[in-house]
Amino acid sequence: MGAGEMTNEEAEKLITEPQLRLCSVTDMYYNITGQPAPRQLDLLEDWFPGLLIRVRETDGNKKEAPEYIDTERLIEAVRYHGHLYLGSTSRVTHIAGKLVGRTKSNLEKERKAAELIQKNISRCLVSEDDPLGSLLENTVKKIALAGPAKMEDFHHVLYIFVLMCAESYYERDRYDRDSELFPFDDEVFDQILYNAFYQLLKYTFDGLVHAYQWLLLGALLRNECGRIARVYDSSFIPVNRPASETGHLIDKLLYMIEPEEYEPTYSGDDMDKRFPGIEWYCDQCGEHLNEQEGFDDHLEAWQCRRCGHINLISTEEIYETDEDYRNGIQNHTGEDHLRAVEERKKELEKDRK
Ligand SMILES: [Zn+2]
Repeated sequence: MGAGEMTNEEAEKLITEPQLRLCSVTDMYYNITGQPAPRQLDLLEDWFPGLLIRVRETDGNKKEAPEYIDTERLIEAVRYHGHLYLGSTSRVTHIAGKLVGRTKSNLEKERKAAELIQKNISRCLVSEDDPLGSLLENTVKKIALAGPAKMEDFHHVLYIFVLMCAESYYERDRYDRDSELFPFDDEVFDQILYNAFYQLLKYTFDGLVHAYQWLLLGALLRNECGRIARVYDSSFIPVNRPASETGHLIDKLLYMIEPEEYEPTYSGDDMDKRFPGIEWYCDQCGEHLNEQEGFDDHLEAWQCRRCGHINLISTEEIYETDEDYRNGIQNHTGEDHLRAVEERKKELEKDRK
């Protein structure tokens, strides 16, 4: 701990409640930046823009109650004097209250609606049109706005928050955990906090952003965040490369029957690497090696900076998927990949002429 840093006690004071609920997670940000926390709909739109609220165009001077649109799993609202108008007795009050974590009542119909919104967002975030990218951009902007002076404090508070959350979750008995609003599977809860803490321990700006994004997602989506944790590593890099061109289930099944039908292809133009398009993961701890400092795939071997395991970097170590690696199945040799890269090189040269 450097001089001038806040103490653990001071950090704890900025935590409203050590719980993975959206209001608790965002309160830390507002407490540190000295801004008042926005009301429910504004809060949701602030941190998850466009994902669950559609803003209806108006002149901004009319109060119209927001609506929940069942078929689209969206809340439609209007801006009134710059803020999303919530009204007082609408169904949306309950739905938004549950998502933000300020209402813990278990009104069944609204609980269900909120759960469908969580599912919808979670599916949307693992889809191919990459809304996760713009979500991260939004979080980067907001954290950068806090200014470098606050950054260290923010890091410290999140660090304490994760530890307190982990402790208080398991202090409660199983019945209590299982019967709360939007209960977690313990594995999902663990993974979210683990990812966040792992990123915090990088002590970088990106690490701070990623850590906070995990806490935000875990708090909003609760157990539905499990889907995201299965698909992305802690830096939000996809872990499961598809075993087929499309990644669709039926193609994956067919690929298992006739793997030779699929020719490896490479479509990128990053030719500086020895193995373009190949992501390397530590055989021991699963860490994404490409993003470790100093990693270069021209090396024969790379010692994982996290666990110290020495990983060979060669064509023999290339697998199509995690499953193939675990089961020791290599349907393609790395040579196929290198051939695909060679072809791509020729293609690029042709384009240049
Ligand atoms: Zn490792």
